[in-house]
Amino acid sequence: MRCPSCGYPESKVVDSRSADEGASIRRRRECLECGHRFTTYERLAENPILVTKTDGSSEVFDRAKLMRGLLIACAKRPITPEKVDNLIASIETELRSTQRTEIKSKDLGDMVLARLANLDDVAYIRFASVYKDFQSIEEFSAALKEIG
Ligand SMILES: [Zn+2]
Repeated sequence: MRCPSCGYPESKVVDSRSADEGASIRRRRECLECGHRFTTYERLAENPILVTKTDGSSEVFDRAKLMRGLLIACAKRPITPEKVDNLIASIETELRSTQRTEIKSKDLGDMVLARLANLDDVAYIRFASVYKDFQSIEEFSAALKEIG
């Protein structure tokens, strides 16, 4: 792993710990040339999970994309990026544990919403309004009622 500061190819590991509920290992590394410290993550090489949309098209599950959507939903709410990260990790863990290689976008949205419901009502509604692509005010109201 090349040093992001000076480009030197060799570094030593100064700390290793389990991350994402054991799904990955986080390593702190120190560049042998300039002493710069940086973090790497080691994960199992996994088969991609396909997300199927309602129109029949599908795309590879994109953690960064989900993260962006969630950060928008959680804007100005008392939710740390770490909590959002944990939320996504828990979804990934569930997907892996059931050996799924494909999931409907609606089901994925429901998994996110189930977790957001426990986290923050406002973020839940924001995410629901975007993700479920509400067709009518009635549907939106129904979602509002769900959280009481
Ligand atoms: Zn360096």
